Amino acid sequence: VQHLKKTKIAIVRCKHYDSDDVFRAIDKGIEFIGGIDSIIKPEQQVLLKPNNLAGAHPDEAVTTHPTILEGMIRILKKKRIDLQYGDSPGFEKPSTGLRKSGLSAVADDYGVKLADFENGKNIHFPQGLVCKNFPITNACIDADCIISLPKMKTHQLTKITGAVKNQFGCIYGLHKAPYHLKYPDPISFSRMLVDLNHLVRPKLFVMDGVIAMEGNGPRGGTPKNMQCILVSTDPVAMDATFCRMINLDPRMVATNTYGELTKLGSMQVENLEYLGEPIEEFIQKDFVVNRQSMTQPTFKNFITRLTKRTFFAKPVIDPKRCIHCGICVQACPVEGKALQFQNGNTKQPPVYDYANCIRCYCCQEMCPHKAIFLK
Ligand code: SF4
Ligand code: SF4
Repeated sequence: VQHLKKTKIAIVRCKHYDSDDVFRAIDKGIEFIGGIDSIIKPEQQVLLKPNNLAGAHPDEAVTTHPTILEGMIRILKKKRIDLQYGDSPGFEKPSTGLRKSGLSAVADDYGVKLADFENGKNIHFPQGLVCKNFPITNACIDADCIISLPKMKTHQLTKITGAVKNQFGCIYGLHKAPYHLKYPDPISFSRMLVDLNHLVRPKLFVMDGVIAMEGNGPRGGTPKNMQCILVSTDPVAMDATFCRMINLDPRMVATNTYGELTKLGSMQVENLEYLGEPIEEFIQKDFVVNRQSMTQPTFKNFITRLTKRTFFAKPVIDPKRCIHCGICVQACPVEGKALQFQNGNTKQPPVYDYANCIRCYCCQEMCPHKAIFLK
């Protein structure tokens, strides 16, 4: 009888962001799945890719915590590997965002260089199911091996942002915005993300779930104590595990279903080998996440702007929180903008033009003041 090889995924408890505790937890997780030597070859150039969606204090749980980056650096430094790090945030310069999130301070301490996340090349990817061209950062092109360090968070478009979504930062700078226009619904956006993952293929994923984010993520949500670090070579298995921890059916997340279909990874529990602490100890049934089922399009491109407007919640601004910074307006990828300051008046919050809004939620994602909600 031939047995299929199961995907290994380690769950390690980690109660606090104490540098030594985090280091030991990551080290333990990597040992569970076969050790670092099974993943990285000597002399390789390794890129560490945390989630730095936007510069934010580590306590806000928007970004991968600096101790996670530090723990990974400590493990790899022992190996004398050529290490770089970085991410391409939504709007800021990479160096600015990484400094605000405390990630560059840690990298500087260990002499790890910031990789080039500001420039890149268009890479043709004929195998892509929905997307065959990606503008990829030089950082990702030059690396022999990418280690992805996602943050465990909610997301308004895709429900969760975890291991698969973390690679969206491999597309550089403002090149990300057109992807929201071209793939405006959760299904097509997720298929694009799966294509992107097949292209850049990180070799290892270490998810920061010590303090996750629930509710109005990926930027305006609430920190939630989950006390875990997940380690795997399979991003789909990792995201499916995150779903199980928050009592969300993994099939509700389209990157899981398309990830499994295209053999990016496995989400079915029978294909996974759980190591470390039992998952049951981490399940938080009251975790606040969008639990509504996605409107699955029966035909390709079924979801038009009209149907999106009918089926998907609209973003609204809470005027009490809005400080009129205009970041949401900049973030809107729609030509002519679907929200703007009325008559250029920046003393009032911007106003939505819902008829043109494609419900991509970039405005909600990018608002630094948690002022945009979905209704
Ligand atoms: S980004 Fe947020 S705070 Fe800034 S204008 Fe938009 S809603 Fe207001
Ligand atoms: S207004 Fe917001 S949700 Fe609507 S298209 Fe613009 S960024 Fe996307």
